[in-house]
Amino acid sequence: MGAYVNPIYPYKSPADLMATPPQRKPLIVIGAGPVGLAAAIDARLQGLEVLVLDDDKTVSIGSRAVCYAKRSLEILDRLGIANEACGLGVSWNIGRTFLEEDEVYQFNLVPDAGHKRPGMINLQQYHVEEMLIARALELGADIRWQHKVTAVTRHDEHATLTVETPDGTFDIEADWLVVADGARSPIRRHLGLDIEGRVFQDRFLIADVIMKADYPAERWFWFDPPFHPNQSVLLHKQSNNVWRIDFQLGWDADPEEEKKPEKVIPRLKAMLGDDRPFELEWVSIYTFQCRRMTDFRHGRVLFAGDAAHQVSPFGARGANSGFQDADDLMWKLGLVIKGQASEKLLDTYAMDRQFAADENIMNSTRSTDFITPKSRTSKTFRNQVLALAKHHPLRASWSTRAACRCPLS
Ligand SMILES: Cc1cc2nc3c(=O)[nH]c(=O)nc-3n(C[C@H](O)[C@H](O)[C@H](O)COP(=O)(O)OP(=O)(O)OC[C@H]3O[C@@H](n4cnc5c(N)ncnc54)[C@H](O)[C@@H]3O)c2cc1C
Repeated sequence: MGAYVNPIYPYKSPADLMATPPQRKPLIVIGAGPVGLAAAIDARLQGLEVLVLDDDKTVSIGSRAVCYAKRSLEILDRLGIANEACGLGVSWNIGRTFLEEDEVYQFNLVPDAGHKRPGMINLQQYHVEEMLIARALELGADIRWQHKVTAVTRHDEHATLTVETPDGTFDIEADWLVVADGARSPIRRHLGLDIEGRVFQDRFLIADVIMKADYPAERWFWFDPPFHPNQSVLLHKQSNNVWRIDFQLGWDADPEEEKKPEKVIPRLKAMLGDDRPFELEWVSIYTFQCRRMTDFRHGRVLFAGDAAHQVSPFGARGANSGFQDADDLMWKLGLVIKGQASEKLLDTYAMDRQFAADENIMNSTRSTDFITPKSRTSKTFRNQVLALAKHHPLRASWSTRAACRCPLS
């Protein structure tokens, strides 16, 4: 057992991209996260030239996405990495929900046999990104690390990008630009485009723990467990003996204090209930928001993934919906670039995925409200649903719909 070490991808001088007047590329993707990489792979599978610019030199640091849904696995199948992802990831279908020490509900994501893929796999985001990068390079995508896009100017028929590198700054043009630069999206801000939604007032501690444990490959979610009273806890098995544990802390928790090993380790020991050895791979505190851009298409500039929409992690809809953005966008963009469809087809990308984002935000907000009730009345209702769920199957299904949409993540 050992902690994950992030790979460092080589920097290549942009000498071949620098020109006066600026070079024009058919397609540039900003951001080599899961969504930008999926878009780049899709482009290459259609024979399109693609340049990917990323300001970093490695994959995602720390613990982020864990759960990838069946629909994502179908997309990853098409992109060519699903076998590898399923081989390394932990497949699961069963989710269990506990109130204090009692199991009150369980679900099976794939109750019938004969499916090619499981309902979910759990795999650390850094592994998924490594696989996507290897596949994109294998297909001939041009990925440039330490290339930070600092400005974008929109024109009717193209976009002009200003790119900062260790060897200086240059301008480059793109007929089409896919912006997948993540939740903070410097490009969205730079272009002054709006994104609206809601910030949730709660904090969660994430601990990625390396340990040998024989818990089944299932999703376990506790409300008010004896080892963490009045809050919730989530347990997921990931690859290579890494277990992801999320502790709800409440809004008043001090993030700096709560991250200290002397605070985290007793929480984990209380949960594990024994003296088994474990190593902390990652600890962080997260808060979250649910919001989306009004429009995902701005002429020749198309937004995808977290840049366009964000959800709470409950429901595992972030990267999963980002893969669906890339899946919806790229065949349409391919037809437009090849002159086989009108640009108007891209408006349907925006319509489809804005609608999907609203659906995802609605479900993840409901889940979050159930986990962190905003009033005493909501909390009383929530607790009654959970208490009844154990004995009354109908209410169990209510609680699943209302609450346990959440516990997929
Ligand atoms: C705690 C937590 C748990 C989560 N769990 C899940 C889960 O179980 N399942 C799930 O589906 N999702 C989950 N998510 C969400 C998931 O992590 C994100 O949705 C996903 O990373 C979004 O991918 P992206 O490619 O849009 O953006 P990112 O992964 O943020 O990638 C953006 C990329 O753009 C680059 N970039 C930024 N600015 C620039 C610039 N100016 N120039 C060039 N490059 C730039 C960055 O370096 C980065 O590589 C979770 C998130 C969190 C925080």
